[in-house]
Order: sequence, then structure tokens, then C-alpha cells
Amino acid sequence: MGDSRGWGGGWGNNVIGVSVVVVGAGLAGLACAVELAAAGVPVRVLERAGSVGGRMASGTIEGRPVDIGAAYFTVRDAEFAEVVARWRTAGLARPWTSELAVLGDGSRGRSPGPVRWAAPHGLRSLVAELAAGLTLELQHEVRHVGPGPVVDGAGADVVVLAMPDPQALRLVEPASPAVAELTGRDWRPVVTVVAGWRSREWPEMNAAFVNDHPVLSLIADDGDRRGDGAPVLVAHTTADVARAHDAQPRGAVEPVLGAIRELLDLHTQPAWTHAHRWRYAAPTADRDRPFHLGDDGIALAGDGWGSARVETAWRSGTLLGRAVAARLGGGRTE
Ligand SMILES: Cc1cc2nc3c(=O)[nH]c(=O)nc-3n(C[C@H](O)[C@H](O)[C@H](O)COP(=O)(O)OP(=O)(O)OC[C@H]3O[C@@H](n4cnc5c(N)ncnc54)[C@H](O)[C@@H]3O)c2cc1C
Repeated sequence: MGDSRGWGGGWGNNVIGVSVVVVGAGLAGLACAVELAAAGVPVRVLERAGSVGGRMASGTIEGRPVDIGAAYFTVRDAEFAEVVARWRTAGLARPWTSELAVLGDGSRGRSPGPVRWAAPHGLRSLVAELAAGLTLELQHEVRHVGPGPVVDGAGADVVVLAMPDPQALRLVEPASPAVAELTGRDWRPVVTVVAGWRSREWPEMNAAFVNDHPVLSLIADDGDRRGDGAPVLVAHTTADVARAHDAQPRGAVEPVLGAIRELLDLHTQPAWTHAHRWRYAAPTADRDRPFHLGDDGIALAGDGWGSARVETAWRSGTLLGRAVAARLGGGRTE
């Protein structure tokens, strides 16, 4: 996407021709790249997967998009609200619900809260919108970030690692100052199970938090969320169940279906199922800084920098992009 223009040499051992490399094309990485590009700083985004989005993942299953990562997003930050308004105008995002059901303990209730937003084409489509016009290389897995900084041997002025801590930790050297920033917190896993029925056989619902349940933490009605009414449910497991099925995520399907049947009083089998494992779905503790920008040129961003959610990822990447642009003498600062 876009063209790849360098800063015309003179940047040390910068053989890749651009000054900033962002590793990870999730929301944080692309929000960071958007800010850098807006400030006139050439930036190159490298992503190991075949598409953008990261944990805002929308798989095409049985011919329609299904959100298999984040279930929805909320909006508190005024600047993020402007981005969301743009997505809404473009038909990419829509307010879904401000009240979710609560199941578990044999009881049923409602949980009022902020508006939860959904994406008719899947949450990935929102990240893709940000990627338009950026220099992005998909299926490019970075393996090493060393002092310099260098990315797989090629120099850059700043390298941004926009991903969960354990994934970033694999890239940096043990002596890197970034290691101290990346250690000390666990990340919990989730297996997402998607199941499609021939017709809707459950009580009307949008989504339900499942409290204190051994198998499930959330059930979402994807037809309601997407707005097409398809008879598709998406369930997120507890961390214990995800750990037990780490090697074979499909093994989580039967316990999840059993729990769905019990909680929704369903008596039929789905026509199809799909399972996806997230080894690093979310950190178990928050941070109170929005990003890390080291003197060594290695920077860290993502939903781990704050309270883990979509909006945090956007804010972390955006603020880091501005800070990097300011350090490199680019235009805009906060
Ligand atoms: C099951 C689940 C449910 C969730 N539910 C919600 C919710 O309801 N509401 C909410 O707000 N948030 C939710 N979240 C969290 C939300 O998805 C994240 O906060 C957000 O997507 C994080 O974005 P990010 O850019 O920080 O990281 P990611 O989206 O993880 O992006 C990191 C990117 O880096 C890439 N990458 C990693 N290593 C390399 C490498 N070596 N080389 C190149 N690329 C690499 C990855 O492929 C990935 O694309 C949920 C997450 C999960 C998994």
C-alpha cells in the first residue's frame, strides 16, 4: 500500500530507506503509523499475518465475516470519538448496544454500561481503513530487533513494537532496556468458539457476560452484532479452558457447546463450528503509562499500555506516533 520514500540517506546504517519501522499492523501499530505519516515522517509497517487487524480479527466463516477477537469496542476519548464518527459516516461502525445480559450462577440479569460499538463488515475493516495510504508489508515476520536499533539487520532511527509483551520480548535482546518494560505481567489466553445454527433457537439477546463460570466468559450473538440476523453465536472461554486446549483449540468446542446449551436452554446441535486460540488475549494487569519510548530507539505500544481494550490500543499508538515524530523533528506534537 502506498509508496516507499526514504529520507534520502544520511541516517546512519539506514539501508531500508525509512527512519521508522512499526512492527505489528494491529490498531496500535497503524494508529502510530498514521500519526507519523501525518507529521511527514516516513514509516514502514511490517506485519507477519496476511492481513491487518491483529486481535481485531474478523474471519470469513461460511461466507460472512465473524469477529473472532475483540467482541466490540467502547469510546471515551474525545479524539477517538472523532475517528469513530468517521468510521460511522463511512458505514464501517455502528452503535450496537449499551446493555448486555449477565448469565451465570443460575441467574439472569442486565448490565447497563457505555455504548458498545460493532462493525457490520467486522472489526478488522476499521483497522484496514487506517492502513489506506501507508507503506505496509504483510506476511513479513520480524525475528530480531537489536541495538542501533536494527530490524533483522537493517537500521532505523526508531523501531516501534506494537504487540503483546510476550511477542515483543521474543524480538529484543536480553540486554535491551525494553526487557524490563516487557516482563512482570502475565497475559491470559482465550479460545473463541464460533457456532452456526440453521435457525435462531435462543432467546433474543445481543451478548451476555458469563460470570463465575468454569468454561465461558462471554457469549455474543453475531447476527445481532453484525445486523444481518444470521444464527451465529461467538463464545469466549475462560483462561483455564484456553490453557487446557492450547495445543488443540478444537478440543474446547464440545465443553463450550455444552455450556451454551445449559446457559441458553438450547436443545439442538449447531450446523458448524470453528475454534480460534488467542495465546495472549489480554494482560492480567493495567499500566499507567500510554507507551514506552527508549533512548535506544526501541519503542513499545499496544493495548498493554493502559487498560487492555481497543480504545487503549488506538490511544497508545497515536500518542507514541506523536512522541516519535517530535523526537525526530517531524511536524505535529501533542
Ligand atoms: C478474545 C478477545 C476478546 C476481546 N474483546 C474485547 C472487547 O470486547 N473490547 C475491547 O475493547 N477489546 C477487546 N479485546 C482486546 C482488543 O482486541 C485489543 O485491545 C486490541 O485489538 C489490541 O491491538 P494492538 O494493536 O495493541 O495489538 P494486536 O491487535 O495484537 O496487534 C499486534 C500485531 O503484531 C503482529 N506481530 C506480532 N509479532 C510480530 C512479528 N514478529 N513480526 C511482525 N508482526 C508481528 C501480530 O500479527 C498482530 O497483527 C479482545 C481481545 C481478544 C483476543
